[in-house]
Amino acid sequence: MKLQAVKGTFDILPDAQPYWHHLYSAAERVLTRAGVRELTPPVFEHSDVFVKSAGASSDLVVQKEMYTFTDAGERSLTLRPEFTPGVLRAFVEHGMYTLPAPVKLWCKGPIFRAEKPQRGRFRQFHQVDCEFLGLASPLVDAEAVTLLYRVLGACGLKNLTVRLGSVGDPEDARAYNSYLRDELGKRATELSEMSRERLRLNPMRVLDAKDEGDQKIVGTLKRPLDFLNDEARAHFGAVQRFLTDWEVPFEIDDSVVRGLDYYRRTAFEIHHAGIGAQSALGGGGRYDGLVESLGGPATPGVGWAFGVERVLDAMEQDGVEVPRSPGPTLFLVPMDDEAISEVAKLASELRSSLSVHHAYSRRNPGKGLRDADRSGARFAGLRGERERERGVYTFKNLRSGEQHEVSEADLKTFLGARLKDVR
Ligand code: AMP
Repeated sequence: MKLQAVKGTFDILPDAQPYWHHLYSAAERVLTRAGVRELTPPVFEHSDVFVKSAGASSDLVVQKEMYTFTDAGERSLTLRPEFTPGVLRAFVEHGMYTLPAPVKLWCKGPIFRAEKPQRGRFRQFHQVDCEFLGLASPLVDAEAVTLLYRVLGACGLKNLTVRLGSVGDPEDARAYNSYLRDELGKRATELSEMSRERLRLNPMRVLDAKDEGDQKIVGTLKRPLDFLNDEARAHFGAVQRFLTDWEVPFEIDDSVVRGLDYYRRTAFEIHHAGIGAQSALGGGGRYDGLVESLGGPATPGVGWAFGVERVLDAMEQDGVEVPRSPGPTLFLVPMDDEAISEVAKLASELRSSLSVHHAYSRRNPGKGLRDADRSGARFAGLRGERERERGVYTFKNLRSGEQHEVSEADLKTFLGARLKDVR
Protein backbone atom coordinates (compact mmCIF):
# COMPACT_ATOMS: atom_id res chain seq x y z
CA MET A 1 0.00 0.00 0.00
CA LYS A 2 1.29 3.45 -0.89
CA LEU A 3 1.37 5.46 2.30
CA GLN A 4 -0.33 8.82 2.13
CA ALA A 5 -1.65 11.40 4.57
CA VAL A 6 -4.97 10.26 6.01
CA LYS A 7 -8.03 11.54 4.16
CA GLY A 8 -9.06 14.92 5.57
CA THR A 9 -5.55 15.70 6.84
CA PHE A 10 -2.73 17.53 5.08
CA ASP A 11 0.89 18.57 5.42
CA ILE A 12 1.81 22.17 5.97
CA LEU A 13 4.80 22.37 3.65
CA PRO A 14 7.76 24.72 4.17
CA ASP A 15 6.57 27.16 1.47
CA ALA A 16 3.26 27.60 3.30
CA GLN A 17 4.83 28.22 6.71
CA PRO A 18 5.29 32.01 6.32
CA TYR A 19 1.50 32.38 5.98
CA TRP A 20 0.86 30.36 9.11
CA HIS A 21 3.45 32.36 11.03
CA HIS A 22 1.96 35.60 9.78
CA LEU A 23 -1.48 34.58 10.99
CA TYR A 24 -0.41 33.26 14.38
CA SER A 25 1.80 36.26 15.09
CA ALA A 26 -1.01 38.67 14.13
CA ALA A 27 -3.28 36.83 16.60
CA GLU A 28 -0.65 36.88 19.31
CA ARG A 29 0.07 40.61 18.82
CA VAL A 30 -3.55 41.72 18.88
CA LEU A 31 -4.61 39.46 21.74
CA THR A 32 -1.56 40.06 23.94
CA ARG A 33 -2.06 43.83 23.66
CA ALA A 34 -5.59 43.30 24.95
CA GLY A 35 -4.39 41.30 27.97
CA VAL A 36 -5.43 37.91 26.59
CA ARG A 37 -2.96 35.24 27.75
CA GLU A 38 -2.08 32.07 25.88
CA LEU A 39 -2.97 28.67 27.30
CA THR A 40 -2.10 25.39 25.58
CA PRO A 41 -4.37 22.51 26.59
CA PRO A 42 -3.52 18.92 25.62
CA VAL A 43 -4.67 17.58 22.27
CA PHE A 44 -6.75 14.86 23.93
CA GLU A 45 -8.86 14.82 27.08
CA HIS A 46 -11.10 12.41 28.94
CA SER A 47 -14.11 12.03 26.67
CA ASP A 48 -16.33 13.28 29.48
CA VAL A 49 -14.84 16.77 29.13
CA PHE A 50 -16.43 17.03 25.68
CA VAL A 51 -19.52 14.93 26.26
CA LYS A 52 -20.53 16.77 29.44
CA SER A 53 -20.01 20.18 27.94
CA ALA A 54 -21.35 19.66 24.44
CA GLY A 55 -24.88 18.84 25.50
CA ALA A 56 -26.79 15.85 24.21
CA SER A 57 -28.04 17.51 21.05
CA SER A 58 -24.81 18.92 19.66
CA ASP A 59 -23.74 17.91 16.17
CA LEU A 60 -20.47 16.65 17.61
CA VAL A 61 -22.19 14.08 19.73
CA VAL A 62 -25.24 13.35 17.58
CA GLN A 63 -23.35 12.95 14.34
CA LYS A 64 -20.50 11.10 16.03
CA GLU A 65 -17.98 13.64 14.85
CA MET A 66 -15.59 13.02 17.71
CA TYR A 67 -12.47 10.89 17.42
CA THR A 68 -12.92 8.84 20.55
CA PHE A 69 -10.79 5.83 21.47
CA THR A 70 -10.11 3.61 24.45
CA ASP A 71 -6.49 3.54 25.57
CA ALA A 72 -4.58 0.61 27.05
CA GLY A 73 -5.75 1.66 30.52
CA GLU A 74 -9.39 1.33 29.41
CA ARG A 75 -9.88 5.09 29.55
CA SER A 76 -12.19 6.71 27.01
CA LEU A 77 -10.23 9.58 25.45
CA THR A 78 -11.17 12.06 22.72
CA LEU A 79 -9.09 14.18 20.36
CA ARG A 80 -10.40 17.70 20.90
CA PRO A 81 -13.21 18.62 18.49
CA GLU A 82 -13.12 22.21 19.84
CA PHE A 83 -11.04 24.17 22.34
CA THR A 84 -13.59 25.55 24.79
CA PRO A 85 -14.20 22.47 26.99
CA GLY A 86 -10.48 21.75 27.48
CA VAL A 87 -9.76 25.40 28.28
CA LEU A 88 -12.57 25.47 30.83
CA ARG A 89 -11.42 22.16 32.32
CA ALA A 90 -7.98 23.78 32.78
CA PHE A 91 -9.60 26.95 34.17
CA VAL A 92 -11.36 24.87 36.84
CA GLU A 93 -8.43 22.51 37.50
CA HIS A 94 -6.03 25.41 38.14
CA GLY A 95 -8.50 27.45 40.18
CA MET A 96 -8.33 30.37 37.74
CA TYR A 97 -11.77 31.50 38.90
CA THR A 98 -9.96 33.15 41.83
CA LEU A 99 -8.17 35.51 39.41
CA PRO A 100 -9.61 38.98 38.72
CA ALA A 101 -12.40 38.73 36.15
CA PRO A 102 -12.52 38.64 33.25
CA VAL A 103 -9.90 35.95 32.82
CA LYS A 104 -8.94 36.17 29.15
CA LEU A 105 -7.32 33.16 27.49
CA TRP A 106 -6.46 32.19 23.93
CA CYS A 107 -5.09 29.10 22.25
CA LYS A 108 -4.10 27.80 18.87
CA GLY A 109 -3.57 24.39 17.36
CA PRO A 110 -5.12 21.37 15.70
CA ILE A 111 -8.75 20.31 16.10
CA PHE A 112 -10.15 16.92 15.07
CA ARG A 113 -13.59 16.16 13.69
CA ALA A 114 -14.70 13.03 11.87
CA GLU A 115 -16.64 14.98 9.23
CA LYS A 116 -17.00 14.26 5.56
CA PRO A 117 -13.99 15.98 3.95
CA GLN A 118 -14.77 18.55 1.24
CA ARG A 119 -13.50 21.96 0.20
CA GLY A 120 -12.74 23.92 3.38
CA ARG A 121 -13.69 20.98 5.58
CA PHE A 122 -11.00 18.75 7.04
CA ARG A 123 -10.70 16.11 9.72
CA GLN A 124 -7.63 17.69 11.24
CA PHE A 125 -7.79 21.45 10.95
CA HIS A 126 -6.61 24.34 13.08
CA GLN A 127 -8.28 26.98 15.15
CA VAL A 128 -7.42 30.09 17.07
CA ASP A 129 -9.73 30.24 20.07
CA CYS A 130 -10.36 32.89 22.69
CA GLU A 131 -12.33 32.72 25.95
CA PHE A 132 -13.35 35.52 28.34
CA LEU A 133 -14.44 34.17 31.69
CA GLY A 134 -16.08 35.56 34.78
CA LEU A 135 -18.16 38.57 33.69
CA ALA A 136 -21.71 38.73 32.33
CA SER A 137 -21.36 42.34 31.16
CA PRO A 138 -22.15 43.21 27.52
CA LEU A 139 -18.83 45.06 27.55
CA VAL A 140 -17.11 41.67 27.42
CA ASP A 141 -19.29 40.43 24.54
CA ALA A 142 -18.38 43.56 22.61
CA GLU A 143 -14.68 43.18 23.41
CA ALA A 144 -14.78 39.56 22.26
CA VAL A 145 -16.39 40.44 18.92
CA THR A 146 -14.01 43.35 18.47
CA LEU A 147 -10.91 41.23 19.06
CA LEU A 148 -12.08 38.61 16.57
CA TYR A 149 -12.59 41.37 14.01
CA ARG A 150 -9.22 42.98 14.81
CA VAL A 151 -7.26 39.72 14.69
CA LEU A 152 -8.63 38.95 11.22
CA GLY A 153 -7.99 42.55 10.18
CA ALA A 154 -4.38 42.22 11.39
CA CYS A 155 -4.05 39.11 9.19
CA GLY A 156 -4.66 41.50 6.29
CA LEU A 157 -8.29 40.60 5.55
CA LYS A 158 -10.76 43.03 4.08
CA ASN A 159 -14.34 42.19 3.10
CA LEU A 160 -15.17 41.02 6.60
CA THR A 161 -18.75 41.01 7.87
CA VAL A 162 -19.66 40.51 11.50
CA ARG A 163 -23.13 39.01 11.88
CA LEU A 164 -24.60 39.52 15.28
CA GLY A 165 -27.61 37.85 16.86
CA SER A 166 -28.97 36.85 20.23
CA VAL A 167 -30.58 33.61 21.31
CA GLY A 168 -31.80 35.17 24.57
CA ASP A 169 -31.83 33.49 27.94
CA PRO A 170 -32.69 29.82 28.45
CA GLU A 171 -36.39 30.62 29.04
CA ASP A 172 -36.50 32.63 25.78
CA ALA A 173 -34.81 29.80 23.95
CA ARG A 174 -37.30 27.36 25.49
CA ALA A 175 -40.24 29.49 24.40
CA TYR A 176 -38.81 29.86 20.93
CA ASN A 177 -38.02 26.16 20.68
CA SER A 178 -41.54 25.25 21.64
CA TYR A 179 -42.88 27.73 19.05
CA LEU A 180 -40.60 26.08 16.46
CA ARG A 181 -41.69 22.62 17.53
CA ASP A 182 -45.32 23.60 16.96
CA GLU A 183 -44.80 25.37 13.66
CA LEU A 184 -42.22 23.04 12.17
CA GLY A 185 -44.00 20.01 13.58
CA LYS A 186 -46.92 20.82 11.28
CA ARG A 187 -44.62 20.70 8.27
CA ALA A 188 -42.20 18.01 9.44
CA THR A 189 -42.78 15.85 6.38
CA GLU A 190 -41.51 18.65 4.14
CA LEU A 191 -38.22 18.98 6.06
CA SER A 192 -34.92 17.29 5.22
CA GLU A 193 -33.89 14.35 7.35
CA MET A 194 -31.17 16.38 9.11
CA SER A 195 -33.68 19.11 10.02
CA ARG A 196 -36.17 16.57 11.30
CA GLU A 197 -33.45 15.22 13.58
CA ARG A 198 -32.61 18.74 14.73
CA LEU A 199 -36.27 19.49 15.26
CA ARG A 200 -36.40 16.57 17.63
CA LEU A 201 -33.23 17.49 19.57
CA ASN A 202 -32.75 21.26 19.33
CA PRO A 203 -35.26 22.95 17.01
CA MET A 204 -33.32 26.23 16.87
CA ARG A 205 -30.63 24.47 14.88
CA VAL A 206 -33.10 24.08 12.02
CA LEU A 207 -32.50 27.79 11.31
CA ASP A 208 -28.97 26.76 10.31
CA ALA A 209 -30.21 24.27 7.70
CA LYS A 210 -28.37 24.37 4.38
CA ASP A 211 -31.21 22.64 2.52
CA GLU A 212 -33.10 25.10 0.25
CA GLY A 213 -36.50 23.61 0.98
CA ASP A 214 -35.82 23.91 4.71
CA GLN A 215 -34.69 27.50 4.26
CA LYS A 216 -37.97 28.40 2.48
CA ILE A 217 -39.93 27.08 5.43
CA VAL A 218 -37.59 28.78 7.91
CA GLY A 219 -38.17 32.08 6.07
CA THR A 220 -41.84 32.08 7.09
CA LEU A 221 -41.12 31.77 10.82
CA LYS A 222 -40.66 34.25 13.65
CA ARG A 223 -37.02 34.79 14.69
CA PRO A 224 -35.21 34.30 18.02
CA LEU A 225 -35.03 38.09 18.49
CA ASP A 226 -38.85 38.23 18.62
CA PHE A 227 -38.67 36.16 21.79
CA LEU A 228 -36.08 38.06 23.84
CA ASN A 229 -37.00 39.06 27.39
CA ASP A 230 -36.38 42.68 28.43
CA GLU A 231 -33.01 42.06 30.03
CA ALA A 232 -31.70 40.01 27.15
CA ARG A 233 -32.95 42.72 24.75
CA ALA A 234 -31.15 45.43 26.78
CA HIS A 235 -27.97 43.33 26.81
CA PHE A 236 -28.15 42.91 23.05
CA GLY A 237 -28.71 46.65 22.64
CA ALA A 238 -25.68 47.45 24.80
CA VAL A 239 -23.42 45.12 22.78
CA GLN A 240 -24.51 46.93 19.61
CA ARG A 241 -23.86 50.35 21.12
CA PHE A 242 -20.31 49.41 22.16
CA LEU A 243 -19.54 48.01 18.72
CA THR A 244 -20.89 51.13 17.02
CA ASP A 245 -18.92 53.31 19.39
CA TRP A 246 -15.71 51.35 18.70
CA GLU A 247 -16.31 51.45 14.96
CA VAL A 248 -16.62 47.73 14.48
CA PRO A 249 -19.03 47.26 11.58
CA PHE A 250 -21.69 44.59 12.09
CA GLU A 251 -25.07 43.57 10.81
CA ILE A 252 -27.90 42.05 12.79
CA ASP A 253 -28.55 38.53 11.64
CA ASP A 254 -30.95 36.61 13.76
CA SER A 255 -30.31 33.36 11.97
CA VAL A 256 -26.97 33.20 13.79
CA VAL A 257 -27.50 30.43 16.27
CA ARG A 258 -24.60 28.38 17.49
CA GLY A 259 -24.40 24.63 17.19
CA LEU A 260 -23.97 23.82 20.85
CA ASP A 261 -26.58 23.86 23.59
CA TYR A 262 -24.74 26.02 26.07
CA TYR A 263 -25.01 29.33 24.22
CA ARG A 264 -27.17 32.15 25.53
CA ARG A 265 -27.67 35.79 24.57
CA THR A 266 -25.01 37.03 22.16
CA ALA A 267 -24.14 34.86 19.18
CA PHE A 268 -21.93 36.02 16.32
CA GLU A 269 -20.17 34.91 13.20
CA ILE A 270 -17.60 36.53 11.00
CA HIS A 271 -17.81 35.99 7.26
CA HIS A 272 -15.62 36.74 4.30
CA ALA A 273 -16.99 37.56 0.90
CA GLY A 274 -14.41 35.58 -1.10
CA ILE A 275 -14.45 31.99 0.11
CA GLY A 276 -17.68 30.56 -1.21
CA ALA A 277 -20.30 28.48 0.50
CA GLN A 278 -18.28 27.91 3.66
CA SER A 279 -18.03 31.67 4.16
CA ALA A 280 -17.92 31.61 7.97
CA LEU A 281 -14.37 32.15 9.09
CA GLY A 282 -15.36 31.80 12.70
CA GLY A 283 -17.88 32.57 15.35
CA GLY A 284 -18.76 32.40 18.97
CA GLY A 285 -21.06 33.60 21.66
CA ARG A 286 -21.89 33.89 25.30
CA TYR A 287 -22.33 30.71 27.27
CA ASP A 288 -23.48 29.75 30.68
CA GLY A 289 -23.41 26.64 32.76
CA LEU A 290 -20.37 25.25 31.02
CA VAL A 291 -17.90 25.82 33.85
CA GLU A 292 -20.37 24.22 36.32
CA SER A 293 -20.80 21.20 34.06
CA LEU A 294 -17.04 20.70 34.36
CA GLY A 295 -17.11 20.90 38.13
CA GLY A 296 -16.34 24.61 38.69
CA PRO A 297 -18.32 27.45 40.26
CA ALA A 298 -21.02 29.26 38.24
CA THR A 299 -19.02 31.38 35.79
CA PRO A 300 -20.34 33.31 32.81
CA GLY A 301 -18.22 33.30 29.68
CA VAL A 302 -17.93 34.46 26.08
CA GLY A 303 -15.75 32.77 23.51
CA TRP A 304 -14.99 32.47 19.84
CA ALA A 305 -12.92 30.40 17.46
CA PHE A 306 -11.92 30.80 13.86
CA GLY A 307 -10.65 28.25 11.39
CA VAL A 308 -7.06 28.92 10.37
CA GLU A 309 -7.34 27.17 6.98
CA ARG A 310 -10.41 29.24 6.08
CA VAL A 311 -8.63 32.45 7.06
CA LEU A 312 -5.58 31.50 4.99
CA ASP A 313 -7.90 30.83 2.06
CA ALA A 314 -9.49 34.27 2.55
CA MET A 315 -6.02 35.88 2.76
CA GLU A 316 -5.22 34.35 -0.61
CA GLN A 317 -8.49 35.71 -2.06
CA ASP A 318 -7.65 39.17 -0.72
CA GLY A 319 -4.11 38.95 -2.14
CA VAL A 320 -2.47 39.43 1.25
CA GLU A 321 1.31 39.56 0.80
CA VAL A 322 3.42 37.90 3.47
CA PRO A 323 7.19 38.43 3.71
CA ARG A 324 8.95 35.32 2.39
CA SER A 325 11.52 33.73 4.63
CA PRO A 326 14.82 35.29 3.59
CA GLY A 327 17.67 33.16 2.27
CA PRO A 328 20.86 32.78 4.30
CA THR A 329 23.20 35.70 4.77
CA LEU A 330 26.14 33.64 3.65
CA PHE A 331 26.62 30.55 1.52
CA LEU A 332 29.98 28.78 1.84
CA VAL A 333 31.44 26.81 -1.07
CA PRO A 334 34.18 24.21 -0.54
CA MET A 335 36.27 23.95 -3.72
CA ASP A 336 38.31 20.91 -2.65
CA ASP A 337 37.83 18.00 -0.27
CA GLU A 338 39.78 19.55 2.59
CA ALA A 339 37.56 22.63 2.47
CA ILE A 340 34.40 20.61 3.12
CA SER A 341 35.09 20.26 6.84
CA GLU A 342 36.61 23.78 7.00
CA VAL A 343 33.44 25.44 5.72
CA ALA A 344 31.22 23.20 7.87
CA LYS A 345 33.18 24.28 10.96
CA LEU A 346 33.08 27.95 10.00
CA ALA A 347 29.32 27.71 9.34
CA SER A 348 28.74 26.14 12.72
CA GLU A 349 30.69 28.98 14.43
CA LEU A 350 28.99 31.77 12.50
CA ARG A 351 25.50 30.37 13.08
CA SER A 352 25.57 31.77 16.62
CA SER A 353 24.79 35.13 14.99
CA LEU A 354 24.10 34.57 11.29
CA SER A 355 22.19 32.35 8.94
CA VAL A 356 24.83 30.35 7.06
CA HIS A 357 24.33 27.52 4.56
CA HIS A 358 27.01 25.58 2.71
CA ALA A 359 27.53 22.96 0.04
CA TYR A 360 28.26 19.46 1.35
CA SER A 361 30.64 18.35 -1.39
CA ARG A 362 33.31 20.08 -3.46
CA ARG A 363 32.11 22.43 -6.11
CA ASN A 364 33.80 24.27 -8.92
CA PRO A 365 33.37 28.04 -8.47
CA GLY A 366 30.70 28.37 -11.18
CA LYS A 367 28.47 25.63 -9.78
CA GLY A 368 29.16 26.77 -6.19
CA LEU A 369 28.04 30.32 -6.98
CA ARG A 370 24.93 29.02 -8.72
CA ASP A 371 24.07 27.01 -5.60
CA ALA A 372 24.63 30.10 -3.47
CA ASP A 373 22.38 32.16 -5.74
CA ARG A 374 19.66 29.55 -5.68
CA SER A 375 19.68 29.53 -1.87
CA GLY A 376 18.84 33.25 -1.92
CA ALA A 377 22.09 34.08 -0.07
CA ARG A 378 23.41 37.63 0.12
CA PHE A 379 27.10 36.66 0.09
CA ALA A 380 29.10 33.66 -1.00
CA GLY A 381 32.40 32.59 0.59
CA LEU A 382 34.66 30.32 -1.46
CA ARG A 383 37.45 28.19 -0.07
CA GLY A 384 39.97 26.11 -2.02
CA GLU A 385 43.63 25.31 -2.14
CA ARG A 386 44.65 28.81 -3.23
CA GLU A 387 42.66 30.40 -0.37
CA ARG A 388 44.11 27.93 2.16
CA GLU A 389 47.67 28.75 1.14
CA ARG A 390 46.99 32.46 1.56
CA GLY A 391 44.90 32.02 4.73
CA VAL A 392 41.83 33.70 3.20
CA TYR A 393 38.28 33.23 1.90
CA THR A 394 37.12 34.68 -1.39
CA PHE A 395 33.96 36.65 -0.73
CA LYS A 396 31.43 37.59 -3.36
CA ASN A 397 28.56 40.00 -2.84
CA LEU A 398 25.87 38.22 -4.82
CA ARG A 399 23.86 41.38 -5.40
CA SER A 400 26.60 43.77 -6.58
CA GLY A 401 28.93 41.10 -7.98
CA GLU A 402 31.83 42.73 -6.07
CA GLN A 403 34.46 40.15 -5.08
CA HIS A 404 37.56 40.24 -2.82
CA GLU A 405 39.59 38.25 -0.35
CA VAL A 406 39.24 38.38 3.40
CA SER A 407 41.86 36.92 5.70
CA GLU A 408 40.81 34.29 8.23
CA ALA A 409 41.90 36.60 11.04
CA ASP A 410 39.66 39.41 9.72
CA LEU A 411 36.76 37.17 8.90
CA LYS A 412 34.57 37.85 11.90
CA THR A 413 35.20 41.62 11.88
CA PHE A 414 34.59 41.75 8.15
CA LEU A 415 31.34 39.87 8.50
CA GLY A 416 30.33 41.96 11.48
CA ALA A 417 30.91 45.21 9.59
CA ARG A 418 29.39 44.05 6.31
CA LEU A 419 26.49 42.12 7.61
CA LYS A 420 25.16 44.01 10.56
CA ASP A 421 23.02 46.14 8.31
CA VAL A 422 21.86 43.01 6.49
CA ARG A 423 20.75 40.98 9.46
P1 AMP B 1 -17.15 25.85 15.05
O1 AMP B 1 -16.23 25.47 16.18
O2 AMP B 1 -17.86 24.69 14.43
O3 AMP B 1 -18.01 27.03 15.34
O4 AMP B 1 -16.16 26.33 13.88
C1 AMP B 1 -15.44 27.52 13.96
C2 AMP B 1 -14.68 27.68 12.67
O5 AMP B 1 -13.76 26.59 12.50
C3 AMP B 1 -15.53 27.62 11.43
O6 AMP B 1 -16.08 28.86 11.13
C4 AMP B 1 -14.52 27.21 10.38
O7 AMP B 1 -13.76 28.31 9.96
C5 AMP B 1 -13.63 26.28 11.13
N1 AMP B 1 -14.02 24.89 10.90
C6 AMP B 1 -15.00 24.18 11.49
N2 AMP B 1 -15.03 22.91 11.05
C7 AMP B 1 -14.02 22.81 10.15
C8 AMP B 1 -13.49 21.74 9.35
N3 AMP B 1 -14.01 20.51 9.40
N4 AMP B 1 -12.44 22.00 8.54
C9 AMP B 1 -11.90 23.23 8.49
N5 AMP B 1 -12.33 24.27 9.23
C10 AMP B 1 -13.38 24.07 10.05
